[in-house]
Amino acid sequence: QITIDKIAAGEVVERPASIVKELVENAIDAGATTITVEITDGGISSIRVIDDGEGIAEEDIRKAFLRHSTSKISDAGDLTTIATLGFRGEALSSIAAISMVRLTTKTHDRDYGSLYEINGGSEASLSQVGAPNGTTFEIQQIFYNTPARRKFLKTPITEASHISDLLTRLSLSHPEISFQFINNNQVKLHTTGSGDLKDVIYHLYGREVASNIRAVTFTGKNLQVTGYVGNPSINRGNRNFENFFVGGRYIKSNLISKAIEDAYKEYTMQHRYPFACLLLSCDPELVDVNVHPTKMEVRFANTQQVYEDVYEAVHQTLKIEEH
Ligand code: ADP
Ligand code: MG
Repeated sequence: QITIDKIAAGEVVERPASIVKELVENAIDAGATTITVEITDGGISSIRVIDDGEGIAEEDIRKAFLRHSTSKISDAGDLTTIATLGFRGEALSSIAAISMVRLTTKTHDRDYGSLYEINGGSEASLSQVGAPNGTTFEIQQIFYNTPARRKFLKTPITEASHISDLLTRLSLSHPEISFQFINNNQVKLHTTGSGDLKDVIYHLYGREVASNIRAVTFTGKNLQVTGYVGNPSINRGNRNFENFFVGGRYIKSNLISKAIEDAYKEYTMQHRYPFACLLLSCDPELVDVNVHPTKMEVRFANTQQVYEDVYEAVHQTLKIEEH
């Protein structure tokens, strides 16, 4: 079992950011309203994820670390299932197989919490402890027992930037959750959880960006588009400030980037990169999200229509602003 988990871990855990992704998604699924991620050395030495969600009952802890064990109901008819739930029931077993894990958790209906330690897939201890409601995962020494894989890790700065990017996207797609990211004891990101996307943009990108954005609300032939766009900046040499979500899931898309940039180009006459945070939704029939769970890609049935809808969404938003 441990060997199989170590192999499976290669699929789920590519780098520290993959661990953070799985743990934070679990926290979101557990109904957390506040999620704190603390790392040292880009997450290579340690990752801590603290949530105030429902917690795990003492008797369910061991089960949670078994491969393919999930408490989550799946709807096989839902095309988005694979993409949104990732590797179902594989995250905790995979993470535990290649690191040292310390879990502290308490459910609301109990007076005490539990402390569980599991190293390289082998249980080290399970005991009762005092703990706040919710769950804290502490992951140490990633890949300590798979040195070949550890060699593929990049510098702590690079690994930390992957985590920072991930938490930026999660913050944008969950304005109702307060996220905090602490890297080497420094607070790098902190959102309020107010539920207001504009508020998230302010906390992530600062006053300059937040005071120059326009709200988008558009219904096209294929897509419904909401969110914000902001002026292209001469200081911006890439698409880092362009964020798109389809059905709540972060995606990369040259097609959508191009549509936004083209709409702006008509107004600014310059090819520069705008700020964008666009939430797209469409009929599940028109988009294929069933690509690999860690890939940030989707395939649209009608790419020309998607381009036109996004172009129109931005174009109309800019037009309104002219008066
Ligand atoms: P999955 O999320 O696909 O169910 P995981 O391996 O990620 O599989 O998690 C296994 C189980 O552990 C979850 O189904 C859930 O019951 C429990 N769990 C994991 N993390 C948390 C958390 N932060 N809060 C509450 N329960 C959790
Ligand atoms: Mg999970």
